Amino acid sequence: MIDFHCHLDLFPDPAEASKRCDLLGVYVLSVTTTPSAWPGTLQIAEGHKRIRTALGLHPQVAHLRMKELSLFEQYLPDTRYVGEIGLDGKSDNGAFWREQVKVFTQTLRLCERAGGRYLSVHSRGAVDEVVECLQTYGKSSFPILHWFTGDERQARSAINAGCWFSVNAAMTSSEKGRRLIACLPRDRVLTETDAPFAKSSGRKLVPWEMSRTRDELAQIWNISREECSRTLLMNLRNLATHEFSRS
Ligand code: MN
Repeated sequence: MIDFHCHLDLFPDPAEASKRCDLLGVYVLSVTTTPSAWPGTLQIAEGHKRIRTALGLHPQVAHLRMKELSLFEQYLPDTRYVGEIGLDGKSDNGAFWREQVKVFTQTLRLCERAGGRYLSVHSRGAVDEVVECLQTYGKSSFPILHWFTGDERQARSAINAGCWFSVNAAMTSSEKGRRLIACLPRDRVLTETDAPFAKSSGRKLVPWEMSRTRDELAQIWNISREECSRTLLMNLRNLATHEFSRS
């Protein structure tokens, strides 16, 4: 099982959550929302070989945390994973659009200068702008759009820009989401929860229940659960063998 976008540090008991993921063999990308959360979140992964920690600066707090860009730069050499970063055109923070763009482009530039990173990217209500920024400032990086909510045209433009996608149960449970998932190249899809915030059918999603999302995905792709698991693991393996120009 794979949970490629999970906020382990925001769980009520992060140590217990990471232990549980480990016991069940879940591969986790543990993302952060601020650079100052990086050292503590990295510690949660200690001793758990399937957890990778990503350095992030979330668009919804970008205007409050611009000063932490220097911390972002400081910690960037310590990881190949960056997230959660991106743009949010729908949040109440739309008022801080300029700050969001500044923070997002600056994080992309820093990643570029460091030779590229895996990027877990937020693009709600801002897919066109996110794709444009990635093409302009993020050429060496490997973007994975998390919880994609764009339309089919935007999916095509993201695919053309080299993006991968991490899909969650909130996407597989809506008709629109299922149609969108069907348009994505199967060799560029991973699963995620966005736990502990995201819900599906009124229930909070947790990484140790990833098999539900896997089963939904198998149904959309019209393949068996086993084949779906194999496809997802192969995708993760392919992603992991990507070689950046410099690291
Ligand atoms: Mn998130």
